[in-house]
Amino acid sequence: MNKIVFFPTLQRQSIEKYYNRNNKPYSNYRDNYNQVAKDCLHRCVYCDATEAECGGEKFSLDHFRPKDVFVDKFNGVLITHPHNLYLSCQKCNVLKSNDWKGCTDYIDGPSYSGRQGYIDRFNDDIHAFIAIDDKGKLIPKNTFGPAEYMIKRLLLNRPNRVYIRKRRLLNLQATALKNELNYHMDKIMADYRSGKSTPLESLDKIDKLQSLRQRFDAIV
Ligand SMILES: [Zn+2]
Repeated sequence: MNKIVFFPTLQRQSIEKYYNRNNKPYSNYRDNYNQVAKDCLHRCVYCDATEAECGGEKFSLDHFRPKDVFVDKFNGVLITHPHNLYLSCQKCNVLKSNDWKGCTDYIDGPSYSGRQGYIDRFNDDIHAFIAIDDKGKLIPKNTFGPAEYMIKRLLLNRPNRVYIRKRRLLNLQATALKNELNYHMDKIMADYRSGKSTPLESLDKIDKLQSLRQRFDAIV
């Protein structure tokens, strides 16, 4: 799976970058949206759709470790800590809701237990758990870990998300084809300049290539 096009590696910024109150990191949806969206590269951490692919709509900030589960634990710090906020599209956020199958004994314990729970995009390499087929569908890679659970619970293969991924795959293929056409055009010109091809031969090749390019441009 292409790690730039699908589920890129995410990294948090240092805590001073986020909104704070009384010199303590403090999260609320309004003041932290931009920083959290930046951390998540403006993608839903679950289905990988970007805000732009969803018509530019604002996503939600999901408490990865849910508020209801952790409200009385660790002095409630997970309720207000910006690093517990993950960018999520509206539907994934609603489907995940307060579900938590991971550890509740430690503030940063595992986010899944056996085959249930969620892959933490800031800690786990999702590519070790999930593959993507050539139709844009997510496929669990292993018989361990929470991939299958996540895909089912959050409906990660809902038609619109599969369509979005398929479109990215097609764009990748289109770019590769375009590069190949450009390569051949450069080669024809080089052969012409070096005298390897006669002017007539070169013109013939250019005509054929241009007709290919026009057909290609009409498709994409
Ligand atoms: Zn989503």
